[in-house]
Amino acid sequence: MYHFRKLACMQTIRLLTDETINQIAAGEVIESPASVVKELVENALDADAQKITVEVVGGGLQTIVIADDGKGMNPDDAKMSIVRHATSKIEKAQDLFHIASKGFRGEALASIASISKMTIETSQGDAAVRIEVERGEIVKEGRCARTRGTTVTVRNLFHNVPARKKFQKSPPALSAEILRLMTMLSLSHPSVQFELISNGKKAIQTRSGETLVDRAKALLGDVFASEAFPLDFQEESLHFQGLIGSPSQSRPNRMAQYLFLNKRAVSCDVISDAIRKGYGTRLEERRHPLFLLHIDVPPDLVDVNVHPQKLHVRLRKEELFRDKICEAVERAFGEVPAASMQFEPVPMRFDEAPLLFKEELTEQEPYLSIEELAVEVVDHFGKFLILKERELLSILDIESASFRILFEELLVESSTEVPKQGLLVPFNVDLTPPESAMVLTHQAAIEEMGFSLKAIGKDVFMVEALPPFLKESEVEGLLSDLAHTLQEFIGKVDYEKERREKLALKIAMRAKSKSVSSLEEGRRLVERLSKCENKAHCPRGNKVRIDFNHDSIERLFTANQDPARILN
Ligand code: ADP
Ligand code: MG
Repeated sequence: MYHFRKLACMQTIRLLTDETINQIAAGEVIESPASVVKELVENALDADAQKITVEVVGGGLQTIVIADDGKGMNPDDAKMSIVRHATSKIEKAQDLFHIASKGFRGEALASIASISKMTIETSQGDAAVRIEVERGEIVKEGRCARTRGTTVTVRNLFHNVPARKKFQKSPPALSAEILRLMTMLSLSHPSVQFELISNGKKAIQTRSGETLVDRAKALLGDVFASEAFPLDFQEESLHFQGLIGSPSQSRPNRMAQYLFLNKRAVSCDVISDAIRKGYGTRLEERRHPLFLLHIDVPPDLVDVNVHPQKLHVRLRKEELFRDKICEAVERAFGEVPAASMQFEPVPMRFDEAPLLFKEELTEQEPYLSIEELAVEVVDHFGKFLILKERELLSILDIESASFRILFEELLVESSTEVPKQGLLVPFNVDLTPPESAMVLTHQAAIEEMGFSLKAIGKDVFMVEALPPFLKESEVEGLLSDLAHTLQEFIGKVDYEKERREKLALKIAMRAKSKSVSSLEEGRRLVERLSKCENKAHCPRGNKVRIDFNHDSIERLFTANQDPARILN
């Protein structure tokens, strides 16, 4: 009985104090110093700042100072700003469906104030105020000197939440996290000037009014920016803009994908997959492209209220997004890479115009003018061909070119039928039982690629015809390869197109030539390449050719240039 009464006493329900509520909220919103930087920089952007300076000491655990030249707050608003759920950005729940600002919950300042010592100095151009906040309460307020804008200083972050502090990474790791975050923020607003100073050293310095390409160069490096394909796509209310990385710079993971939706860094599988799809056969299966893409759409097409940190978004009209993004990326590959924009005059690219040869001109295309005699095969040099095309000197990788040519020819011809070369002396290949089962199941598809096969015994096939470019000695290994590839389709439906691509890829990979035996053969190779849809990359994403114009060659000779950077 006594026991029961004691228990009953303990069940009194109390309202939490504001301080406790704010600390709990802070636990959700503020995970680390980087979250503080993110919230405060986003506030500055919401205030239309054109210049934002961030200074951190000790990975931000010691001090974070964020200064902006935005519209500032009047003294009453400054005091109000640290109250939980105080916001100037939305008024009612309905507003949530067309949010244009970054913040809207009115939680950040209240949360940060409850777990640090915070000072706000702000001015709208006239009198400036300064308020000091501790444990969420204003402890001091007064005037100060400041031009228009706001400076928020956060000291001793997590001082009163030791459990949270204990789980922070080391200051260098925290600084690295802030650097990555600031890079993303700078890429999200290329025209705003950002500065990051970490432990007294300048870590990021950008200029105001930069274009996206300028900023990508400054933050992601010349190599990415100059090799990437610019994308600019506008249709009705959809606007996509950015840089689509060269397939040869693909990565094994998605780390180098910079995606911004209405200027907010997000990750979104639907969008990433659509971009990947736009690369088509330029990328191998497990590789991921590099890209920097800004997607601007009416706010009511996206739902950002999914996660407190707003990283993942949900799209309305997913289908529309998927198709348009894929189309935009495909289109970008038809454009000249950003590199050529640096090297004036703009050189002709393989991708732009069909190639023709002097020798063949008179016979085949008598009406062409002299300018259109585009490519001359100057020489072959081991695994490479040297080409000259107007203002360009190019090195062509025979193996990649041949891989691309065979792959596309196989794909085009397999819809009619790849020419078969009947063998005078048919030969047999032995496969393992599972391999032979696969070959039997998909025999028709394999035969469309130029083979004639006859099962003549247990796991033995007689090869009666081959595509002309394959050597007999390759066939056994190839059939075994194909059998393994075909296993992927077990249990799948609707795979005809994908199966043709896979088969073509494997066959082309085996059959590609690594060199040419004569200039004439080199010319034929270049001519066949000119008919390919994608002339710039092999199906694995490697570059088919590297172009130089006078400028880029000259740059190779300048002492302070690292040739690897230009060639890469
Ligand atoms: P939210 O951004 O979700 O509205 P915050 O707690 O981050 O909530 O900020 C509260 C309010 O304080 C904002 O709505 C805004 O009016 C004001 N504010 C915060 N930071 C700034 C700033 N740098 N410049 C101008 N106003 C600011
Ligand atoms: Mg905010």
